[in-house]
Amino acid sequence: MEHNLKGKNAIVTGASRGLGEGIAKVLAEEGVNVLVNYAHAGSEEKAKGVASFLVSTYGVKSGVFRADVSKEDQVPPLFDEAEKILEGPVTLLINNAGICPHVTIMDSDFKSWKDCMATNVDSLFLMCREFIRRNVPRSCGGRIINIASQAAFNGSKNGKTHYSASKGAVVSFGISLAKEVAKYNIFVNTVCPGMLLTELTAITLTDEEAVKKYNQNLLLGRLEEVAEVGRMVAFLAGDAASYSTGAVFDVTGGMMSR
Ligand code: NDP
Repeated sequence: MEHNLKGKNAIVTGASRGLGEGIAKVLAEEGVNVLVNYAHAGSEEKAKGVASFLVSTYGVKSGVFRADVSKEDQVPPLFDEAEKILEGPVTLLINNAGICPHVTIMDSDFKSWKDCMATNVDSLFLMCREFIRRNVPRSCGGRIINIASQAAFNGSKNGKTHYSASKGAVVSFGISLAKEVAKYNIFVNTVCPGMLLTELTAITLTDEEAVKKYNQNLLLGRLEEVAEVGRMVAFLAGDAASYSTGAVFDVTGGMMSR
């Protein structure tokens, strides 16, 4: 079955690199117009590079917008710009932006905890609220896909308690929001990736040797590719996922098997 995504409009938060870039590419390959969001001035060129790749390779509409999605005043302008660049309502929202502080509770200041919660959780509240407020009066429905992590369920013994807690919140936020908005034909699902080689994991996967060692503990013997998560997102955004909402999808290569 076709995903039937051609011509739909999406915002992918944190798409200047890593998983967000990978998701943006898979969606664009399906014909989705994608607004590439990023937060930091230094990432502008990278984000523009992603957007021009989408336009030149897949012929979709794309553009970039810098917004810190954890800041209330920066979220509505992000949607305004997306609707302008993509020339229509945004009916696919991929909440991917995230950070992962590496610090034990013993050594952590309060700021590190608050920053993690703001980027990984406040952003969901703000982005989803804006999406719902805009789309309910239009009766256009929509799909929200939030990126959590296996850490929400597995935790970590080496200083990722803030992160694990924030991703646990992502999971339960999605379950409850799905119940609130199903009547508007808005679906909310959560995707849990396993371990990808991105800037976020560079502190653990420092070199080839570290990757090799890590791979030995993985059921499938290798790290995950960003496109493998992207394909799950495309499935959830498309027609084939017509009876899935409030669900948590495991793309961890067996890290969450039960
Ligand atoms: P990266 O660090 O490679 O990329 C993070 C992206 O998020 C960047 O585009 C960054 O923008 C953006 N970003 C950070 N803070 C904000 C903010 N406040 N507002 C808007 N954008 C922001 O991370 P990954 O690609 O690895 O991670 C993406 C998501 O996947 C995260 O939610 C992460 O928790 C999740 N995940 C990752 C796993 C992994 O193994 N890598 C495993 C499981 C889940 P800028 O360039 O401007 O900094």
